Amino acid sequence: MDRITIEKLHIYAYHGVNAGEKEHGQDFFVSVTLSLDLYKPGHTDDLNDTVNYSDAAKLIHSVFTAEKYDLIERAAAAVAEALLDRYPSVDSATVRVDKPDAPIGLEFDTVAVEITLSRHIAYLGIGSNMGDRQAYIDKAVSMLGESHGIAVTAVSSIIETEPYGGVEQDPFLNGVIEIGTYMPPHVLLDRLHEIENACGRERTVHWGPRTLDLDILLYDDIRMNDKELTIPHPDMKNREFVLKPLAEIAPHIIL
Ligand code: ATP
Ligand code: CA
Ligand code: CA
Repeated sequence: MDRITIEKLHIYAYHGVNAGEKEHGQDFFVSVTLSLDLYKPGHTDDLNDTVNYSDAAKLIHSVFTAEKYDLIERAAAAVAEALLDRYPSVDSATVRVDKPDAPIGLEFDTVAVEITLSRHIAYLGIGSNMGDRQAYIDKAVSMLGESHGIAVTAVSSIIETEPYGGVEQDPFLNGVIEIGTYMPPHVLLDRLHEIENACGRERTVHWGPRTLDLDILLYDDIRMNDKELTIPHPDMKNREFVLKPLAEIAPHIIL
């Protein structure tokens, strides 16, 4: 991947745990590496085909000085998120914050943190078989799209399907949603649970009736299995109500 780099942008700001740091401020140096494809601007010579580093530097400055944080980790993450939000062509942003005058009481050159945020593509299964099913699905899609750090990039047709798993219950509406996100998988799962809860989801019977179910089917091409999360979703290959809508919006995917 090609890169655009801004090194040691000098910013006077007020981040720090000590009250004095928030009152008097100090020097920070912010360095940013953006990963993106520069083939096109490398041939068109057109500023509109790339990220304008002067605009990016101004954005970094304004985000870095908008708040007084305790931690430079938080300040670095805020900058990385703002860069990914502003520039759709950027695949990942690495932000390093140097704080050379940190109140340590020993002699040192600098302390710094470095945070990398990357864009990911995930596919979510959505289902409902209680109440106004379509309304719950619509609400979930709009809540997803309004979530900071999530962009809904495709929604499949919503199909009516017979219940799965042997519990006697009403038919489902099911679909698949494609999102772009820089949330890591567990943070994304927490957000999905919040949306389920906002739609009145109660967990009583396993595979039982629900107002809303949101599952992570795929997340890039990662494979993981821990207490909270198995990705790819372990049963998706057995579920036509997942495979059909997935094939509609992502026919290139091979499981
Ligand atoms: P299934 O996952 O077989 O479709 P379900 O959706 O009815 O069943 P839930 O009661 O909604 O199951 O979820 C139970 C738990 O499954 C969640 O709290 C979550 O921790 C865990 N889980 C594991 N892998 C995933 C995944 N890929 N997506 C969503 N939840 C998952
Ligand atoms: Ca499910
Ligand atoms: Ca689920």
